[in-house]
Amino acid sequence: MNAITFQEKGEAQEAIVNGLSVDVEDWFQVGAFEDVIERDSWGGLDDRVERNVHAILDLFDEAKATATFFTLGWVAQRHGTLLREIAKRGHEVASHGWDHQRVFRMDRQTFARDLEKTRKTIEDCCGKRVIGYRAPSFSIDHRTPWAFMELAEQGYLYSSSVAPVAHDHYGWADAPRFAFRPMPWHDLIELPVTTAEFRGKRLAAGGGGFFRVLPYAFSRWAIRQVNREEQRPAIFYFHPWEIDPGQPRVSGAPLRSRLRHYTNLSKMSDKLNQLINEFSWGRIDLIAHRENARLAAEKAAKYELDT
Ligand SMILES: [Zn+2]
Repeated sequence: MNAITFQEKGEAQEAIVNGLSVDVEDWFQVGAFEDVIERDSWGGLDDRVERNVHAILDLFDEAKATATFFTLGWVAQRHGTLLREIAKRGHEVASHGWDHQRVFRMDRQTFARDLEKTRKTIEDCCGKRVIGYRAPSFSIDHRTPWAFMELAEQGYLYSSSVAPVAHDHYGWADAPRFAFRPMPWHDLIELPVTTAEFRGKRLAAGGGGFFRVLPYAFSRWAIRQVNREEQRPAIFYFHPWEIDPGQPRVSGAPLRSRLRHYTNLSKMSDKLNQLINEFSWGRIDLIAHRENARLAAEKAAKYELDT
């Protein structure tokens, strides 16, 4: 583990290990373009995910960082060698659903089939159990009360599918900001993507477009705040297409979506490099394990107090 130490107020402190994740999907599979690129056309489009993931793997190797790659079943089916390479280099391969269908647009049965098909495809590729899930576009929220139950039933140990913030495309604004057990009787754990609190407001600070568009100093401030003041790990994510300035340009999508998708692609690799080297990072299954132990200890302490 690449834990670094920093000196603050005269005390040496072990840095908190944060959760690093990559949502493995190609440039044509993103939520922003779902209304202009037909799913049926995906197979004929310029396949760039493999090259981009290789660049990310090299970046992580150099920084000695490990991460979780939440992968679409659609990608896993076509890139078995790539998935095995990810696993071989010490990273976790987990599920991002089959073809980026948002959870709140499915019913429970459809969601169950989507989960099962994706898990089986990834497991057949890597020969390792899939225990983690990230909903496409953070689409588990108050509309999907059955989603966590289905994940638990299928043997998942954790989910990182909630954005506890208000946003035009996603978000569950009043969900907890840090690890929680959505069902008190079950130890499935949800690790929401990181937000920072500023003057009573929640700000998205866990990656994606925000990381690319805003100055690096904001992300540094937010993650420090979460680690030092709140003593919690941050959960950060990005996508392979975000480090690819040469990707084909999609016309026909709303200007806002295009701005969001294409801003600062050429600066992303350097920014990521800075982030990865400045903080300590690990796989999300590791963070889930630690946070679950912490929640169990808190529950036991509360039980003792109550009895
Ligand atoms: Zn995604």
